[in-house]
Amino acid sequence: MPDTFKAILVSRDEDKKQSVAVTELTEADLMEGDVTVAVEATTVNYKDGLAITGKGPVVRRWPLVPGIDFAGTVLSSSHPDWHEGDKVILNGWGVGETHYGAYAGRARVNGDWLVPLPDRMSPHDAMAVGTAGYTAMLSVMALERHGIPPRRGPVVVTGAAGGVGSVAVAILSKLGYHVIASTGRGAESAYLTGLGAAEIISREELSGPGKPLGKERWAGGVDAVGSTTLANVLSMTSYGGAVAACGLAGGMDLPATVAPFILRGVSLLGIDSVMAPKALRLEAWKRIGTDLDLGKLKALSTTIHFDGIVEAARDIVEGRIRGRVVVDM
Ligand code: NDP
Repeated sequence: MPDTFKAILVSRDEDKKQSVAVTELTEADLMEGDVTVAVEATTVNYKDGLAITGKGPVVRRWPLVPGIDFAGTVLSSSHPDWHEGDKVILNGWGVGETHYGAYAGRARVNGDWLVPLPDRMSPHDAMAVGTAGYTAMLSVMALERHGIPPRRGPVVVTGAAGGVGSVAVAILSKLGYHVIASTGRGAESAYLTGLGAAEIISREELSGPGKPLGKERWAGGVDAVGSTTLANVLSMTSYGGAVAACGLAGGMDLPATVAPFILRGVSLLGIDSVMAPKALRLEAWKRIGTDLDLGKLKALSTTIHFDGIVEAARDIVEGRIRGRVVVDM
């Protein structure tokens, strides 16, 4: 009898009605790839919530094992870069969207998609960061590349108590930025201050219809929310500033005007973690190793087990998750 392992499978019936179930798979059920990994830790990202609940068109192959990121140990490999026993991380590349993903005891993937687990980080630590945290790092790196160092002025983080937001607050404050955290959960103010936020503002300040240009309040931003929030963040960005747009928790639209771009030279920096080139990923994970305090990482993450994934997926799309959720498999 081949070894079996637990997996979450999302399926769709003839009427395109989606369902989710826990099942047992064997390695023969996995999709093509040249590296097989024992998944030791994974996480529940917003995108995983959309995939499991069907609230967004994330799954594009049926049935599918969801889960867009994992950390674990290589079990077998025919890829020149990877050998049995290597510790690896995977983020994105369509895993958990078109390729069987992290919510299974084992995953088989293309070795080109993997990066090494940074020294001094456990699979659990790496997944406390997860795709949300790695995206926060990509956003910070984009602001730096654009020339927004801490001395240029404050940086606003929207959706601050969520996964991307929490890690962005922790990294930016460690780098010396004056961080303004925007949250819809006033009760999380102490949590955000503990992560390093210098000021807390209410989500409502940014979510209503705004003006083409507002008072200049920050030199930069990391926006996980999109829609009117991003439009307002842009309208309040100071001359020559930049905003890294990485999320759509508040909506996919962008009801903005060109005023901040053409009258203040503000830049909108697009952040994609899924297809980001390998060199950028390696740099981001290296920077996470140096610029994210592991004590803060503990403070911003909670741990669940395989059986809690579906419930956490429902919670994250309802905005009920604080920080990051790590799944110890
Ligand atoms: P979380 O759910 O953990 O965080 C999102 C946060 O946004 C919430 O905690 C909440 O923060 C805020 N929020 C939720 N709903 C609304 C709303 N209707 N209006 C305004 N604010 C809202 O998700 P993640 O941090 O994992 O992901 C954040 C976003 O980034 C998602 O849209 C996700 O798809 C995207 N993302 C994009 C990636 C990329 O490659 N570009 C990679 C990873 C994530 P608070 O309670 O503090 O207000």
